[in-house]
Amino acid sequence: MQDQHSPDNWSLETLAIRAGHERTFEQEHSEPIFPTSSFVYGSAAEAARKFNGEEPGNIYSRFTNPTVHTFERRLAALEGGERCIATSSGMAAILSTALALLKSGDEILASRSLFGSTVSLFDKYLGKFGITTRYVELSSVEAWEAAITPQTRLLFAETPSNPLSEVVDIEALACVAHRHDALLAIDNCFLTPSLQRPLALGADLVIHSATKYLDGQGRAIGGAIVGKHQLLEEVFGVVRTCGPCLSPFNAWIFTKGLETLSLRMNAHGQNALLLAQWLDSHPAVEKVYYSGLPSHPQHDLAKRQQRGFGAVLGFEVVGGQAGAWSVIDATRLLSITGNLGDVKSTITHPGTTTHGRLSVEQKQAAGISEGLIRVAVGLEDIDDIQRDLARGLDALMA
Ligand SMILES: *Cc1c(COP(=O)(O)O)cnc(C)c1O
Repeated sequence: MQDQHSPDNWSLETLAIRAGHERTFEQEHSEPIFPTSSFVYGSAAEAARKFNGEEPGNIYSRFTNPTVHTFERRLAALEGGERCIATSSGMAAILSTALALLKSGDEILASRSLFGSTVSLFDKYLGKFGITTRYVELSSVEAWEAAITPQTRLLFAETPSNPLSEVVDIEALACVAHRHDALLAIDNCFLTPSLQRPLALGADLVIHSATKYLDGQGRAIGGAIVGKHQLLEEVFGVVRTCGPCLSPFNAWIFTKGLETLSLRMNAHGQNALLLAQWLDSHPAVEKVYYSGLPSHPQHDLAKRQQRGFGAVLGFEVVGGQAGAWSVIDATRLLSITGNLGDVKSTITHPGTTTHGRLSVEQKQAAGISEGLIRVAVGLEDIDDIQRDLARGLDALMA
């Protein structure tokens, strides 16, 4: 009979609070921080055994730190992965994954609507080393399969996408990847394991910018990669050698952030759905992009593979860029910033900020129109958020 108190039986909410912490001899209740660069050994022989890997234990905080390990174990448990490696940022997680798994001549196939720095990393920096990236429409599994070549080693997608909330069938995409001996990595930043668990759907790797919802309060930069032992051992080698490691203090912030992850994600989602419905009925709004609305073309898929719809939504207002800017400038509560994943709501004009470097044609292909606004809905009272947006939207109709 299985032990009812074993982590194997714990729900996500329990794991988020209990997993990963191995109490020290001090019998602390809350997770401790170990701000130390190195660790000491009882003898020369013990040092030798630890250095050559014969004996597990802490060596140096670039690759072994107990606070970082607590965060890694907790996030691995939440994502249902065998192992997690934490990194200094979300970008460092993507870079480390690429360095670990790709070589010159390999190809990445990525979704068209990706985080801007991810596109720069792939094109500008990995490109320098002979790794090429091609982009396909996120939601079309057929388009992914048609674009695969014998050199394709990694499929990389963000789902739902930013800022149009497009969704891809992760299970189907994993089948396509594996049929062609490629790996599938999902950037799960927007939903977190609380709302979507890509590994259970067949993905090989989950990438996180912990900076966003894992922290949840906009305090620290960090990242992580989760997956099977064998793949993560390669990533560990890169982080250990190249050094994009997470600091113990930031790891502690993320560990404590995870404890309220589900509460926050559910509350974010409730606010976002209410806001999407309200925007949908406003005469100054031409279109709302949110996978939680039944009118969203992939609402059924989103409902099937996600436990919720997240808190990032896009909407188009009348009046093009001038209209969008006037709505943004009329806000007093929402923060005008490109960041997201915070209890504070944020608002941005993708066409001139996050997607500003794209050409007119690229913007059109990506669906980034002049009048598009993105809101990452926070946890303020929904009535206050609506009133803040109503000021600018009502003025557009006057
Ligand atoms: C922010 C973000 C990243 C990069 O993470 P950093 O922690 O800022 O380096 C990667 N992917 C997505 C989807 C993001 O939103």
